[in-house]
Amino acid sequence: MGRLVVVSNRVAVPRERRAGGLAAAMHAALSQRGGLWFGWSGRVVAAPADAPKMEAQGAITYALTDLGRADYEAYYLGYANRALWPLFHYQPNLVEFSRANLEGYLRVNRRFAAQLARLLREDDTVWVHDYHLIPLASELRALGVGARIGFFLHIPLPAPELMAMLPGHRRLVESLADYDLVGLQTEADRHALADYFVRECGASTADGRLILTPGGRRFRIGAFPISIDTALIARLATSGSTNAATRGLVSSLQGRALAIGVDRLDYSKGLPERFEAFGRFLARHAERRRQVSMMQIAPLSREDVPEYRELRERLERMAGATNGQYAEPDWVPIRYINRSFQQATLSGYYRVAQIGLVTPLRDGMNLVAKEFVAAQGADDPGVLVLSRFAGSANELAGALLVNPHDVDDTAEAIEQALAMPLAERRARWQTMFDWLRTHDIAAWRDAFLAALDAG
Ligand code: UDP
Repeated sequence: MGRLVVVSNRVAVPRERRAGGLAAAMHAALSQRGGLWFGWSGRVVAAPADAPKMEAQGAITYALTDLGRADYEAYYLGYANRALWPLFHYQPNLVEFSRANLEGYLRVNRRFAAQLARLLREDDTVWVHDYHLIPLASELRALGVGARIGFFLHIPLPAPELMAMLPGHRRLVESLADYDLVGLQTEADRHALADYFVRECGASTADGRLILTPGGRRFRIGAFPISIDTALIARLATSGSTNAATRGLVSSLQGRALAIGVDRLDYSKGLPERFEAFGRFLARHAERRRQVSMMQIAPLSREDVPEYRELRERLERMAGATNGQYAEPDWVPIRYINRSFQQATLSGYYRVAQIGLVTPLRDGMNLVAKEFVAAQGADDPGVLVLSRFAGSANELAGALLVNPHDVDDTAEAIEQALAMPLAERRARWQTMFDWLRTHDIAAWRDAFLAALDAG
């Protein structure tokens, strides 16, 4: 078996790795087969070099390439994060499209392909990740690369009508046909992509493959729901439940219940709606005031994009208003924190929380939902309140599913979670935990690579 070559916008060199995430899963596969990880170094420089900087560590080689300022702005900030991200998350009103940004996106994909092609061998298996790199296989094929190439989209794939709003959508989506396998998070995403190819491009299906004519390119698409390192999170939660950080949190609660939310500060996460729902819950259930606090951990994200700065200001106003309205000298309803935490710390916090609030307006999967479940103890598990628009809602059948646009629905689910009897909490949690034990990140990675290798 040849090498595995992973390509992603950002390369997770081990010193930056987050415990138990995608990076760890990729590293395990790369070390087993020997391999290469190619992508952006995260650096923006005046004059990027033509060749990537190579860094070998054990059986893995990292190939890190820098971006120039104009490329960073057009490819990353502009096209990836102000056109593709909002559109794919069903927020066409936030799309900022410009031809210059699209050109930058294509230019960077071409540049990545040129640098990567020189490093590839014919028997390599290449796995490209996410929306920054959709046209990469087309660019590699144009350079004569014949290796097997797979693509996994970590974000949702919108319905064809929405996709059609993007100028140049057909060229972008058709470039997926140059992969051998395209992986999506859910069956719904898979259907949306198949629908697009059939309706917009006149593709046909045979033998489980989509066939795009003219040219007759054949490729497969499949749903591969990403997951977490379930055993690791469960272990971290058990040890974390008694560490100093968790003890400090528990003692500050003075016996009150905790509802926890952990999300990058992103408009796809439904944070204003969540704050509003918690305020509505307090308004409706005066008897619950002082009995429960919500803690929202929301590390800042993409601060160079204006929509994210506006969202931050909005949330600051909302948290301030709710706290001003309801807080008492010894109780604050919303604890709002903009820094990030290690997964070990988060796992301990999840373990002592009674409610996990995961209410994105759209999310490809949402790993926090799975981590919250994995972190609960069998004796006294907390309740997950989960948006039906998170990919994970397809798998986490024991959660209380809500429509995050319906603030009353979420407010009622918070009350239902607090009132839920222990036996019901246990039954709901057990089904989800059993699922996650077998459907973990290693199973996801192996299923995708097996499908790609099967050809
Ligand atoms: N995370 C973290 N520290 C934080 C906040 C989040 O390590 O302070 C991790 C979290 O545990 C999860 C990931 O970041 O593994 C977020 O993944 P998710 O799919 O929930 O959302 P994304 O940020 O990818 O949209």
